[in-house]
Amino acid sequence: MPKKRRNNGRNKKHKGHSDPIHCENCKRLVPKDKAIKRFLIKNMVDQSSKRDIEEASVYGKDYTMPRLFIKNQYCVSCGIHARIVRVRSNENRRIRYISNFREGVEEASNGLYKQANKRTAKKPNEK
Ligand SMILES: [Zn+2]
Repeated sequence: MPKKRRNNGRNKKHKGHSDPIHCENCKRLVPKDKAIKRFLIKNMVDQSSKRDIEEASVYGKDYTMPRLFIKNQYCVSCGIHARIVRVRSNENRRIRYISNFREGVEEASNGLYKQANKRTAKKPNEK
């Protein structure tokens, strides 16, 4: 029988079993290697409040605001429902996605690879 994906939608390489995790949205148990994982870095305060705090602060602009580092893990149903991932055509399923937090993404992101979360995410060393 033909396969839909060469990894069967998982990242289980000769492991036999991988620990189940709970989906962030619906709490469904889903294997860790199958879950759709997105790493989210966002500022705790928005830009306008940040300026107000900086003006009121003794340290001024030298103080770096704390940021939230969140790892979201979703089941496949929630990933598709929330449009984190989409149903792709037969050929487009071959395109692999790599994190844009990784170094050297720019060179690798041609043809076979594409950057994940291209629009929203920033590199962690950027401000
Ligand atoms: Zn879910």
